Amino acid sequence: MPQFIYNTCPICNSKSFSVIGECSLGTVNIEKPEKIQAVKCKNCHTIFANPLPVWNKEDFAELYNASYIPALDTTSTVIRERIIPQRRFREIEKHLQTKNKEFLEFGAGIQAFMAQYLFQEQHWNIELQEPSQEFAIALRKSFPQAKVNGTDFLDMNADKRYSVIYSDSVMEHVPDPIDYFQKCADMLEPGGVLYFVSPNEHSFRNWISTLKKTGRGVGINYLRPFNIPYHLVGFSRKGIKIAAAKTGLTVVKHTRRNDYEAVNFIKQQSGVLKYPVAFFLYLVDCLGFGTNQEIILRKNK
Ligand SMILES: [Zn+2]
Repeated sequence: MPQFIYNTCPICNSKSFSVIGECSLGTVNIEKPEKIQAVKCKNCHTIFANPLPVWNKEDFAELYNASYIPALDTTSTVIRERIIPQRRFREIEKHLQTKNKEFLEFGAGIQAFMAQYLFQEQHWNIELQEPSQEFAIALRKSFPQAKVNGTDFLDMNADKRYSVIYSDSVMEHVPDPIDYFQKCADMLEPGGVLYFVSPNEHSFRNWISTLKKTGRGVGINYLRPFNIPYHLVGFSRKGIKIAAAKTGLTVVKHTRRNDYEAVNFIKQQSGVLKYPVAFFLYLVDCLGFGTNQEIILRKNK
């Protein structure tokens, strides 16, 4: 059974928040609180599940198993394997202040495309951390050259220093993100960067699906702590700055653009509305209401 943390912002510890709405309690076989809400911190604007579940090992295995894997596979191959890693690497090069090429990805999932790109095209040393056994098996198949570490991230040996720590769609799953920022800061060399990607809870897609779901009374779509994808925290600009200041990091880039939803939409849909809707999605992205946000934080020298 998870422990539950009530009424406390996981970034700034404020107890002052407004309620966005009630989340569905889902069907997963884990003991649940009476109700769970998505709330927004009045101080740092972080969105978080209230209460915040702290999963134990059995809960974690129940949530992140083979049935979760399809949720990891949503964009087209060329975008995931080439376009996104190339663009993110260009950003890393702009902000990195060290010449070493030591890369660690935590919560690497099943494919680790960024790591594959850096290994094959840029000749970086790669280490992957993945605590779910089922994901690690899939990961070893998709990237057999990689060293896969199954230790929990917060328990990893902090003696080694990395130039880049990377995490795509992980931070929103943990109830204690400050501990993760601190661990990254401890394991980065000075001038090294943490590159993390996390959903934009203020996305157009969230707004639309929340409108639809509220009408049917099955809970809002923010976070979904007890439904795939089990998100617990939605990061705000101010909250990330607070987390950085607490842990010796500096935010050097924060963007809510560069989403490929329009391109994916064109690939997946047909009919006369395909291009007008794709153009609309492109505009939504340009205005900062796309599906994801990407943040680069550098360890202070
Ligand atoms: Zn807060």
